[in-house]
Amino acid sequence: MPIRINHPYKDGACSWLKGNLHTHTTNSDGDLSPQEAAAAYAALGYDFLMFSDHDCFTKTKGLDPCGMVLIPGNEITAYGPHLLHVNAHRYIDPDEDRQAMIDAINVDGGFCIVCHPNWLEDYNHCDHKFLDEWRDYLGIEIYNGVCLRAEGSPIATDRWDRLLSAGRRVWGFANDDSHRSVDRGIAWNVAKVESRVPAAIVRALREGRFYASTGVEISRIRVDDATITVETANAQRCRVFADLGRLQATQDGPAISFTVPEDFPYTYVRVECYGFGDDTAWTQPFFVEKTA
Ligand SMILES: [Zn+2]
Ligand SMILES: [Zn+2]
Repeated sequence: MPIRINHPYKDGACSWLKGNLHTHTTNSDGDLSPQEAAAAYAALGYDFLMFSDHDCFTKTKGLDPCGMVLIPGNEITAYGPHLLHVNAHRYIDPDEDRQAMIDAINVDGGFCIVCHPNWLEDYNHCDHKFLDEWRDYLGIEIYNGVCLRAEGSPIATDRWDRLLSAGRRVWGFANDDSHRSVDRGIAWNVAKVESRVPAAIVRALREGRFYASTGVEISRIRVDDATITVETANAQRCRVFADLGRLQATQDGPAISFTVPEDFPYTYVRVECYGFGDDTAWTQPFFVEKTA
């Protein structure tokens, strides 16, 4: 049966912009004021940034964006698993009904990312039954920087693979969750954006036209029929995974090419690229669809 690869990386005149969507300031428990945090991220070469104070809407109006695009947002914190409200037009009061929060975020014109699922001593800040039950969140943090020095695991690709394998189309984000200087510049998202304005960045993220990274730079993602090629500037090894984390291919070097066979028994593949140390990049999933 012929197959079709459904993926978010369409070609076009776009530039790759780097950003972090999880930043705390002195408005909650961060160490820098919003203006100082903006300056710190600009100095690290970021193109966009979202402040995500705990149950507090940090205004971006009136700040010097230091050459970046500032995306308004907050982290819904009290009464349940933490949720990022991205592209927030208004503050939404926290409520223990998290589905109601996700729905309110979507009505507001923003989108929701579930934070650090594997944080805390039980590696289970967000129980998987919630991830299964909730509808209409855009993605989850597959990497959360502050969890490097906190209890639990920064990585949540296990949750992502479980969701994707269940047919859920959710994107994987990597964010710093920065509270102190050691947290800044750990993890980011690189979006393929048509123009350097908030609406274009939000649209690219919403459509999954980005990859997540802790240091590996992807230079090109190409899909020719059933062949997926990912080229990087600095990977030492690349791997292709399918449903429930099943390894499909490993290639040493900065690029990998994988042709999905016609009798492929799985529903998606995704690529991880590894550089020096902990440096990694994660593509979004390439959904494998059977055509008649
Ligand atoms: Zn949190
Ligand atoms: Zn946070």
